Amino acid sequence: MTDFAKTKSLFHLPEGVIYLDGNSLGPLPKSVPARLAATATDEWGEMLITGWNRAGWMEMPRKVGDRIARLIGAEPGSVVMGDTLSIKVYQALASALEMNPDRRVILSDTGNFPSDLYIADGLVRSLGRGYELRTVTPEDVEAAIDESVAVTLITEVDYRTGRKHDMKKLTAKAHAAGALTVWDLAHSAGALPVHLADCGADFAVGCTYKYLNSGPGGPAFIYVAPRHAEAARPALSGWLGHESPFAFDLDYRPGRGIERMRVGTPPILQLAALDAAMDVWDLTTMEEVRARSIELTEHFIARVEATCPSLTLASPRDPEGRGSQVSFRHPEGYAIMQALIARGVIGDFRAPDTLRFGFTPLYIGLEEVNGAVEILAEIMGKALWDRPEYKVKARVT
Ligand SMILES: *Cc1c(COP(=O)(O)O)cnc(C)c1O
Repeated sequence: MTDFAKTKSLFHLPEGVIYLDGNSLGPLPKSVPARLAATATDEWGEMLITGWNRAGWMEMPRKVGDRIARLIGAEPGSVVMGDTLSIKVYQALASALEMNPDRRVILSDTGNFPSDLYIADGLVRSLGRGYELRTVTPEDVEAAIDESVAVTLITEVDYRTGRKHDMKKLTAKAHAAGALTVWDLAHSAGALPVHLADCGADFAVGCTYKYLNSGPGGPAFIYVAPRHAEAARPALSGWLGHESPFAFDLDYRPGRGIERMRVGTPPILQLAALDAAMDVWDLTTMEEVRARSIELTEHFIARVEATCPSLTLASPRDPEGRGSQVSFRHPEGYAIMQALIARGVIGDFRAPDTLRFGFTPLYIGLEEVNGAVEILAEIMGKALWDRPEYKVKARVT
């Protein structure tokens, strides 16, 4: 059994704050500042450029990738770190499209994160030649997978509502129709069990600054199923994905397996932070985190519905159908969230009317959930949100 008091003690959580936004930016693990300082001082400072060999910097994208692979049900050696998620979406999508050359359609849904859709749209424009991004509602995705689809680009858990797609079922349907799958795990990795290999997923991507607590700007990951790893052409063919970067050949030859999905120089300081942040996963299992997350979200929904009748649940009611976040709608959602933040309860707001709360059992328990609901109920009961300063939109919401 996981000792969640112990995992909580490993995070720096500011005094007086209930943090329900770990789905957007995870909090600081206490071990990270010392790890960053050591990487900077002992490695960069003392070893200078020899750190690439002596401190193992060059292997870090694969080593850390293997730690993430364990959380997402991926085969060892099938995940590599680097760049940001938007870039990894481009890379996976472009590679997958090339592997299905007789088809022209990328299928996605309107619940996807805009960056994924923008990237797909940009790629379609660059490719020309009849390529098309087809977007349907999340409920219609399954029916829309037909023999015109080259690749499905689907985010497993919806960033606004927490609605969760059935990865196994959709992957099977895509394969039966002759399509390849790219899964975005931004709101899945570290939030719920993922079984990429078991589902037969082709490509997957995700970020690490949400539920994996790597800090602002932490690197993304990309997964390529081992059966495709020697066939996929890395659309972003940078020198560190070359078979032999230090041969400095003029011609590009893809590296072996997942190595080819590397692009340029990896962010060593951010990888060091992520590596330290991953230690907490040695103390628990994804299944235990998921069970606890469901307990917390069920309790939160029940308490909010009992005390705040003007808020409307925007997330699926069935816990199996959602990720590790809960959203409520209200026309004054933005002001309500500002009133919450002013009182130390940090969630976030997604236009036009959604209040979003993330539940991360590593450092959130029933006590925090009850505390947050109490403050929310007071704000709603006394209309404390109705102040001009809570209605001024900030740049990041
Ligand atoms: C958070 C998120 C992103 C953000 O991409 P970055 O390149 O890391 O800024 C992209 N897609 C999804 C589905 C996300 O949830």
